[in-house]
Amino acid sequence: MNCDLIMARYGEIALKGRNRYQFEDLLVSNIEKTLARFGPVKVEKVYGRILIHQPVHDEALSALKQVFGLVSVSRAHVVPLDISCIKDKALALATAHGQGTFKIQARRAYKGFGYDSPGINRELGTHVQKHCPSLTVDVHDPDLIIRVEIRQEGAYLFSSALPAVGGLPVGMTGRAILLLSGGIDSPVAGWMSMKRGLKVTALHFHSPPFTSDAALDKVKDLARLLAGYGGRLALHLHHFTEIQKAIAENCRPQLSVIIMRRMMMRVAEKLAEQEDALAIVTGECLGQVASQTLESIYVTNALARRPVLRPLIAFDKREIIDRALDIGSYDISIRPYDDCCTLFVPKHPQLFPRLQKVEDSERNLDIPRLLAAAETVSQRLLLDGWDPGHEEHL
Ligand code: ATP
Ligand code: MG
Repeated sequence: MNCDLIMARYGEIALKGRNRYQFEDLLVSNIEKTLARFGPVKVEKVYGRILIHQPVHDEALSALKQVFGLVSVSRAHVVPLDISCIKDKALALATAHGQGTFKIQARRAYKGFGYDSPGINRELGTHVQKHCPSLTVDVHDPDLIIRVEIRQEGAYLFSSALPAVGGLPVGMTGRAILLLSGGIDSPVAGWMSMKRGLKVTALHFHSPPFTSDAALDKVKDLARLLAGYGGRLALHLHHFTEIQKAIAENCRPQLSVIIMRRMMMRVAEKLAEQEDALAIVTGECLGQVASQTLESIYVTNALARRPVLRPLIAFDKREIIDRALDIGSYDISIRPYDDCCTLFVPKHPQLFPRLQKVEDSERNLDIPRLLAAAETVSQRLLLDGWDPGHEEHL
């Protein structure tokens, strides 16, 4: 049966009061941009719900499930606030389902309607049973639930609510720089920070010719996937070869990994400054590898002026993998290409580096020169999740 519209629900409104409008307007705008690829879009904001009048099809529904801020979406029918119209529509839905068990679940958001929720359940249940004897009522575990939502502007009927990603609309809470490797963790960390409303700019370090174009394609695909959830996303591809060579030649081998991390942090800080970003996001997880002991995190963090957000800090690897499978990044992440971090890695990296020793070893590097040289050969790419396929060099 054709549906009249898509009803979208949002959960927590980030902070209350004036922010409510900001939240709803941003959510509506993100929805409009997400659906624009399908043609003309008509979205309406009603109290506590967002109604999508156009487009109404399964692709639109799938796209909406990926919009942060929405908790569920339904294809729905709307009829005037008149009990006989509501009954007719409920019966039509029941007849289309055929046989088995059903229940009516009414919710009266508009208290001015003449029937309360139990009253609507009774009226509609009796009507359906009378005219569709192949269906019987089962209030505990029915095959079909006909949901009715009474609102001032009309009665909405639908049978299922598909879960959406939840969270807050992207852009709601500010900007951050995401350190995006080609691994499993950082795309998940990026996704989780976007889920909390952050707009991220991704920063990736690569070391040509030691890392391949295929490795770079993998990172671009990961960034495209994230853009699919958050709209426009800039990806900065930063050359790391000279920096890594300089570290290998001039610094203590056991400290090379931590010094590399600190160089990444310096670049991230600089980019954050340029982009007006207030945080840096990484895929670090406590104790997962040598560079993620608390000592290592402390030594890297010592350089950061902005908060470093680590959404995965307490996750087990299995939990991260499950999340990566859910969001669709896992299959991309496991493509077997070298990351710059696997190059020049010492046999025995220092598990518990001391800040003083790391700083002493770094004095052998001309850090400003290395950072400036790398920046001149770096690339910027704009990926457009709202208009897939549209990409620009910045
Ligand atoms: P991931 O799966 O995200 O690569 P990991 O388990 O391999 O993480 P590390 O290699 O210690 O862990 O990296 C820790 C974090 O540092 C990553 O999650 C990412 O945020 C950042 N990072 C590592 N390599 C790069 C890179 N080449 N470019 C940008 N960021 C990186
Ligand atoms: Mg990695």
